[in-house]
Amino acid sequence: MGQTRDCNEMTAMSWPCVGEAGRTGDWRTMRPVLDPEKCVASRKNKIVCMQCWMFCPDNVITRTAPPEINLEYCKGCGICAEVCPSDAIKMTPEQGKQAEPTVMEEASCDG
Ligand code: SF4
Ligand code: SF4
Repeated sequence: MGQTRDCNEMTAMSWPCVGEAGRTGDWRTMRPVLDPEKCVASRKNKIVCMQCWMFCPDNVITRTAPPEINLEYCKGCGICAEVCPSDAIKMTPEQGKQAEPTVMEEASCDG
């Protein structure tokens, strides 16, 4: 168990660090982009809401106003965008990268 940034509360989440997969942001194909105009915490300049911080499985979002995303380790899963009640986070394609085709797309019955 580690301690969360800034609030010293215990959490089961680990700290982002270089693992066997390297900096996991390297292979991200989608990037979360936060709009401070829509973010509740940013608008109030207070540590409120924080759903993105709470649900990020990689613990790469700070518990700050505005929240900041560490793109060196963000994998682009999109959970933060899904849980944000203000639609303040949009997933956008990384430049020069395209999502791998899915197994379903590869397994064609044609021919
Ligand atoms: S896209 Fe996933 S890994 Fe990246 S900040 Fe959002 S929840 Fe965390
Ligand atoms: S979940 Fe959305 S509104 Fe809430 S702090 Fe995160 S970005 Fe801001």
